[in-house]
Amino acid sequence: MTERPLITDAQNTWCPGCGNFTIQHTLKAVLSDMEKEGKSLDDVVLVTGIGCHAKMADYLNINSFYAIHGRAVPVATGIKLANKRLTVICCVGDGDAYAEGLDHLIFAAKRNIDITVLVHNNRVYGLTTGQYTPTSPLGFRGRSTPSGTPEYPLNPLELMLASGATYIARGYTKKMDQLNHLVRGGIGHKGFACIDILQICATFFNMTDFYNTRVYDLPDGDKGDFLSACQKAREWDYNSESNIALGLFYQRSFPTFEDRVIRKPVQKPDRKGVIGEFLKAHQ
Ligand code: SF4
Repeated sequence: MTERPLITDAQNTWCPGCGNFTIQHTLKAVLSDMEKEGKSLDDVVLVTGIGCHAKMADYLNINSFYAIHGRAVPVATGIKLANKRLTVICCVGDGDAYAEGLDHLIFAAKRNIDITVLVHNNRVYGLTTGQYTPTSPLGFRGRSTPSGTPEYPLNPLELMLASGATYIARGYTKKMDQLNHLVRGGIGHKGFACIDILQICATFFNMTDFYNTRVYDLPDGDKGDFLSACQKAREWDYNSESNIALGLFYQRSFPTFEDRVIRKPVQKPDRKGVIGEFLKAHQ
C-alpha cells in the first residue's frame, strides 16, 4: 500500500503563526497513523464549515465536503447515517459551531451520532477581519464592537455536557502532542466527540501569552463522572483569569444514533379495517 501525500499543493493563505497549521498537521499525523494501522483513508470524510478553518478541506488530501456556514454538523450527520462504516470528522469554527450552527451541535450531541467535531476556537471571526463570537470575552473590541462587547461568553464544554456529548475535551494549538492524543481519542470514541481547541488567531486575537501562563493538564483517570466534569468545565468560563484545564473532561459509553436508527423495508398498506374494505371495493 502506498501512503498518499496528505497535504495538497493548494496555495495556503493562512496567516503566519495561525493555529490552523497546528490542527492541520495534527490531523495529518493522526490520519497517517491510522493508515499505517490498516485504515483505508478512502473511508474517512472531512466536513468543514465556513471560516479560516474551512480551508482545511482544500489543504488536506482526503474526501471532503465544504458545507455552508453553521451546517457542517448536519452534513456530517447525514454522511454517517448514509454509510455508518465511514469515519466522519468535522472541522468547524467557534462562530460556525457556537453561533450559526449551535442548534445542530446540540442535537448531534443529544443524539450521540458517531462523528468527531474539532472546534477551531480562536474566539473571533478571523475570515471577516475580527468580529466578536460567542466565546469572545466580555469587552472584546473588534470591528463590530469598537467599544467592547457587552456580552459574556458561552462556555462550550458546559453546554456539550448538558447536551449529552459522550466525549468532551479541550486542546490548545501550542500543545500539539496532547492535541494529537485528544483527536485520536475522539476519532476512536464510538459516539459524539467534541474537542474545543483553543486556537491562536495570530492576526485578530493573539492569546498566546494569556494561554501559556494559565494552561495545565488534567490528570489521566476515570472520566465518567458527570458532576466532576461539570465542575472542571466551570473552572474557567472563557472570561476569567483563572487557570485553564486541558485534556479529556468526560467520556462515557452510550448507544449511538446510527445504531438506534432501524431501517425497515417499506410496508405495504394494511388492508384490514374500513380503509382496506374501501380499497378492495374500488379496485
Ligand atoms: Fe488564522 Fe486569524 Fe489569519 Fe484566519 S485571520 S488565517 S484565524 S491568523
